[in-house]
Amino acid sequence: MNNLLAKLATIIDPERISTEPARLDELSWDALSEGRIHPRHEPALAAPLCAVTPISTAEVQKTVRFANAERVPIVPFGGGSGLMGGALSVRPSIVLDLRRMNRIVEMDGEAASARAEAGVVLEALDRQLSQSGYILGHDPWTVPVATLGGAISTNSVGYRAGIYGSMGEQVLGLEAVLPNGEIFRTRAVAKHSAGIHLNALLIGGEGCFGVITEATIRIFPKPEVQLLSAYRFSSFENGYRTIQKMFQQRLRPALLDFGDDEEAPAQGALLYLLFEGPGALAKAEEKLAAAVCRGGGAAVLPRGVAEDFFHNRHEVARRFTHNRRQRRERGRDGVYRDWIHVALPSSKVLPFRRAAREVVENHGVRLQESGLWVNPELFSMRLGIEERSVPNARLALEETVEALLRLVQDMGGSMEYTHGVGVKLAALMADEHGYGLEVMRQLKRTLDPNNIMNPDKMGL
Ligand SMILES: Cc1cc2nc3c(=O)[nH]c(=O)nc-3n(C[C@H](O)[C@H](O)[C@H](O)COP(=O)(O)OP(=O)(O)OC[C@H]3O[C@@H](n4cnc5c(N)ncnc54)[C@H](O)[C@@H]3O)c2cc1C
Repeated sequence: MNNLLAKLATIIDPERISTEPARLDELSWDALSEGRIHPRHEPALAAPLCAVTPISTAEVQKTVRFANAERVPIVPFGGGSGLMGGALSVRPSIVLDLRRMNRIVEMDGEAASARAEAGVVLEALDRQLSQSGYILGHDPWTVPVATLGGAISTNSVGYRAGIYGSMGEQVLGLEAVLPNGEIFRTRAVAKHSAGIHLNALLIGGEGCFGVITEATIRIFPKPEVQLLSAYRFSSFENGYRTIQKMFQQRLRPALLDFGDDEEAPAQGALLYLLFEGPGALAKAEEKLAAAVCRGGGAAVLPRGVAEDFFHNRHEVARRFTHNRRQRRERGRDGVYRDWIHVALPSSKVLPFRRAAREVVENHGVRLQESGLWVNPELFSMRLGIEERSVPNARLALEETVEALLRLVQDMGGSMEYTHGVGVKLAALMADEHGYGLEVMRQLKRTLDPNNIMNPDKMGL
């Protein structure tokens, strides 16, 4: 190994290479807590050989070429906030920490686009854009920690995806280093019909097909107004039907966050909405949404309730940045928790929720909450089980999660809409994609015959 590192140090500036144990420990794990891993799909773990912190595409290229020649795996690492173990170190690898590639290379206000390096943290990117009157639009909980490259690689969804789209939908063009060290660039245009779109190789690709080094993304003018509101419905079903009506009337809130709390049933189900943009438009949309909600029997809550919710929306992620190690060990506080974030046709969400309750009860697990994000087709559930309640609580919880995800697949939905696959959902990829998984595997073999690019992830 020392030989290998000595060789690497002749290729890139040794200052970029670290073997410091604490740093390697931090870079060996993302935000997948151990309690959320199915006991039968435990990944093999291996400490990274070293971390490389490139500052340019050329340095990424040199590192990847070296790794390919030496048959050493590479793990691209952004903010390390991925929840599925996509950035976990499962073989002795070179971890490529991209966070020093954090420049905004170009901003074109007239075209409403920006080109930035992949390691820029979303919050920093948004702050810089705001100095010129623009916003990033992509607004996940993890704005203070996730990077542009990580968000594209998981096709992440944010609070305001209702009008700005997912991170992948904001991408116009990409620059990436492929496993053979070639630099690959796609044209940064709104649409083309000149062959299949190769951005799709990297959007949601979790670093398995290449390292994204730069992205040109759509940006948006700062909204003139932001109108927040909150409503209480007597039940999840009532609220759900009302939200469906809103969408049938072509209302598209920037933010839609809806859910109930099974442990406080008297509270009913809460809906938070945000309309933003030009004042006249946002006000008209809010008025129409309020009428639909009142028509659905909702109680209007004070605006302050919605404002508190909105202003605290990144707090969990800020806490995550301060206690990563503790988070990894979560599930050791006597309760195992997990959740599902699935996509289903709107006609299937309530039937799925009913069937899911039965599955959850049969496994002796507690359903804690159900919710919607962005629109009526993106549905989530949070589950929990006390460690002492059954002999193997983690197994019971993860069996429940798998049973629910298979049920989603059987009902024509997708098992995950926002966090990716990583190691956690890899075992379900064959059922998710059928022969499509073989297509992905063949692509992987063609582009990465030595299997160096984030191996053992996504079921590839
Ligand atoms: C408290 C909390 C809240 C969260 N909230 C949300 C949310 O609201 N919405 C949401 O979608 N997700 C959420 N997540 C998950 C996570 O923030 C997202 O998946 C995020 O997009 C990951 O970005 P990252 O930079 O941290 O990526 P990492 O975790 O570093 O990496 C994620 C994957 O992308 C790969 N990768 C990273 N950078 C590159 C690159 N430049 N090129 C190629 N591959 C790369 C990695 O190898 C890995 O497979 C949350 C996580 C936590 C802990």
